[in-house]
Amino acid sequence: MSGKHIAIVGAGPKAAAIAAKADILNRVQKPQLQVTIFEQSAVAANWSGRYGYTDGEARLCTPAERDLGFPYDAGVFDPRIAAAMYAEYSWGAYLLEHVRADAQSGFNNWVNRGRSPPTHAEFAGYVEWAIAKSSATLEIGTVTRLEPTPHGWRIHRRGPGGRSRSQGLFDGVVFTGPGAPLHRVERLGTSARITDGRDFWKDPDGFLAQPTASDEPVIILGAGGTAAAIAARTVRARPPRDILIIGDQAALFTRSEAFFESQIFTDDAIWERLEPNTRRGFTDRLNRGVVWSTISDELARSPKVRFEPGRGEKIEVRTGLAGEEILVEYRRSGKTIGTYASLAIDASGFDTWWFATLLPPAMRDRLTAANAKKQKAMREAVADGMSKYLELFNEAPGPIHAPMLSQAVGPGFMSLMALGAMSDRILDRYLPSYIAS
Ligand SMILES: Cc1cc2nc3c(=O)[nH]c(=O)nc-3n(C[C@H](O)[C@H](O)[C@H](O)COP(=O)(O)OP(=O)(O)OC[C@H]3O[C@@H](n4cnc5c(N)ncnc54)[C@H](O)[C@@H]3O)c2cc1C
Repeated sequence: MSGKHIAIVGAGPKAAAIAAKADILNRVQKPQLQVTIFEQSAVAANWSGRYGYTDGEARLCTPAERDLGFPYDAGVFDPRIAAAMYAEYSWGAYLLEHVRADAQSGFNNWVNRGRSPPTHAEFAGYVEWAIAKSSATLEIGTVTRLEPTPHGWRIHRRGPGGRSRSQGLFDGVVFTGPGAPLHRVERLGTSARITDGRDFWKDPDGFLAQPTASDEPVIILGAGGTAAAIAARTVRARPPRDILIIGDQAALFTRSEAFFESQIFTDDAIWERLEPNTRRGFTDRLNRGVVWSTISDELARSPKVRFEPGRGEKIEVRTGLAGEEILVEYRRSGKTIGTYASLAIDASGFDTWWFATLLPPAMRDRLTAANAKKQKAMREAVADGMSKYLELFNEAPGPIHAPMLSQAVGPGFMSLMALGAMSDRILDRYLPSYIAS
């Protein structure tokens, strides 16, 4: 093999989309791309329901047709690539090839049942199938460090038995995944009645079934998709409990699939006509602090759910007359407000810069400062400078891609909205036609 070798950290849908597109490119154009995927736990771990982030039973908010190859535009490649991608790796191809009940194809069954978005666990099955089919190399182990060498990146990882190994050399590295919970809200004391937006999902029934001495509400801190999904799961649990969502915006904002918004996710020409501020406004409006209408409709139907504007500041465990008490503090209009919770969940966000500590010191230093405000500004400046290939850094020994931070380049590369276009952007960087600017 003489083509480029790309490492991807995290075996989720982004890795699956890139591995699938590399396979199709290799078949049609023969650039001999190699892909190695490093995964700390299991393929599609964050979707299966076994490692947090979801119970696996919730459905995708985006339609199944926004699959690994969507939008299937000729885009930067030969139109045959999009056609082959659809034939080999689309959601429909998966249902035809893989899911079969009796004589009925999974595709027939899915259409007859109304083309619902898959559950997260079903989507995990699709991701697993695509990665296996792509013949990308899968390495199970936690990536702990990237080492620059004169001829490429060496990746250090800790295997399941705790043994450290290094692997390489790679021409470029792609980091994926939402990262660990940020824990922006201060915690004083520990209690089984406090959890976060990842761990809640490891045992939602067990968490919600904990006996509590008080009839205080379940308090969820955060106003985005994670907070709303946790609230929806809590609404379904028995016995019913009051739910208070506290978020630092006026309301839970809602979005749905709508043409005028959706077209901007897949039409670069419209995006390029927008002013930088308008772009930022669009991305914030549709990605951050926003809840898909399927979930917000479910919450609206329950009289048990209330929303309160405020920025969560502290969750404190105290011992009162009735035993353990959970005090939640939040700020609004310069005032601190305290309220008691029977259970508390910090769903205030994930650390999309989680991989910064794995980078070599020269890069890490450009992303790190003792002062939190300064560090935020440094990181924003680096992300704003991202290239069209979704490179955060483009320097020796090879690019570092971070599609989760690509809001300055386009609105659709962070999520499942345009996985096909995201993989085009990254792989285009490794084809013989690439010209360094
Ligand atoms: C439960 C859930 C539901 C979502 N639903 C939607 C939706 O319906 N529509 C939509 O558009 N967006 C949705 N999103 C948001 C967004 O699309 C995803 O966060 C994003 O696309 C995740 O895909 P990914 O491939 O980047 O990473 P993931 O699928 O999150 O995979 C990252 C992987 O990296 C691994 N990993 C982490 N650290 C290391 C390390 N050091 N070494 C090796 N491996 C490591 C993890 O184990 C994980 O498997 C959802 C997100 C979540 C979490």
